[in-house]
Amino acid sequence: MKSARKGELIFEERPFTHVLDHSQQGQRCHSCLERSEHLKKCTACGLLRYCSLACQRCDWPIHRRECPCLKQVAPNVPLDSVRLMLRILIKTQLLEKEDQSTTETVWRRTFHDLMSHIEEIQVDPSRSQQFAQIVYTLRELCQGQLDLPPVTQLMEVFGKVTINSFTICDGDLQAVGVGLYLGASYLDHSCQPNAVVSFQGQKLMVRALRDIPEVKPSNIFISYTDQLAITEDRQRQLKEQYYFSCQCCRCQDISLDRLLKSFVCPVPTCTGAVCRIQVGELLPCGSCGMNSYEESYRRKVEDTFHHLIQDLQQIEQAKKAKDLDKVLSLCQKCLNPDTVMVLHSNNLLHIQALDRGLDVAIDLGLWEQALKYGLQLIPLYIKVYPSGSPQVGLLLLKVGKLELYLQRLECALQHLQQGESIIRVTHGRFHELYCQLSELIDQCTDELRVHMEHS
Ligand SMILES: [Zn+2]
Ligand SMILES: [Zn+2]
Ligand SMILES: [Zn+2]
Repeated sequence: MKSARKGELIFEERPFTHVLDHSQQGQRCHSCLERSEHLKKCTACGLLRYCSLACQRCDWPIHRRECPCLKQVAPNVPLDSVRLMLRILIKTQLLEKEDQSTTETVWRRTFHDLMSHIEEIQVDPSRSQQFAQIVYTLRELCQGQLDLPPVTQLMEVFGKVTINSFTICDGDLQAVGVGLYLGASYLDHSCQPNAVVSFQGQKLMVRALRDIPEVKPSNIFISYTDQLAITEDRQRQLKEQYYFSCQCCRCQDISLDRLLKSFVCPVPTCTGAVCRIQVGELLPCGSCGMNSYEESYRRKVEDTFHHLIQDLQQIEQAKKAKDLDKVLSLCQKCLNPDTVMVLHSNNLLHIQALDRGLDVAIDLGLWEQALKYGLQLIPLYIKVYPSGSPQVGLLLLKVGKLELYLQRLECALQHLQQGESIIRVTHGRFHELYCQLSELIDQCTDELRVHMEHS
């Protein structure tokens, strides 16, 4: 059996079918998902846009059948989930007898092989409701154009799609689409994965995060969830979305959760942390062992916790409303000196506030402020993300870019090089993100040389 070295490409594949994320409409090609300034509309439906004739031709076998369906509900645009269902129904009808598999044999799978979890979906009220809505819209779409299979079969397809589809991300981990990948749907989850998925356009790539002695589907694990979360939240998400309980080593290890729930020890001379397990329940300080807390301290911890939860919710709302100034002022509120005196820097809520603060400061062009947040985040990210996570690499890239822009060249070079060693593994040397990073390193090295010559 073949082995894989850290950073090696385990396999890559094209989607069985995919759709462009609605938010990217008009910016990216519906077929290859690449950004383009010269998108051409399908003249029939006026909805799908392609970067080239080649992309349009490539999509035509499916779009030929999808197009009249979309046309008959225009100007309404069905949800991405409905469009993905429709395309899968078309593709499975088209390929009834054809080989639907990926090329490499161990990853060979057909749509038929996918798990659907129908029993779980039937007893899940929110999923059942979602299914009913999808069926309703599909009927409207397909009326007189396409024969829909019976409801039981539709539910099977729905189950396979919801359990197995991948969010397709660009280099910055922003969602650009959603697709079904037959080979990659073999891969199981671990919160401490040994492989990582990245995308180049619509192509999915799986790379080894560390040396894997024996490469076979049952030995490869990727993460299905946001890894910046406490165990109970990750587990709930996995249960709700994928119907399983994770048993990985990270889920068994309580030390990380304690870190993410920590508050500053009230003993003035102590720099340790007190873990808030749940409402009103505090563990002894990990450093000085202090365990009898005054009521005022307990109250401060609870108040801080609840205010931050509220503020972070408001940040999400303000982000949705694209009110950037409000996002920034809320982040500043979360990170004010009074709060930071109680909230330990390792606390998840602190990390989340810094994270949102970094992004919004970048969006507002406040480079100094962004850099301040970014620098605080680096050691925290390294502590809480599994080692070699792409998120850590991306953060280092962001910070390095800010430092380069602000002419802190030595720091910039150091952070960009640290980012490079991660992105090289997670994305590979040919990924556009890696190329962008290499260019920044070159630019930084050049500018440093010029500086040295002048001083
Ligand atoms: Zn294209
Ligand atoms: Zn069309
Ligand atoms: Zn786990």
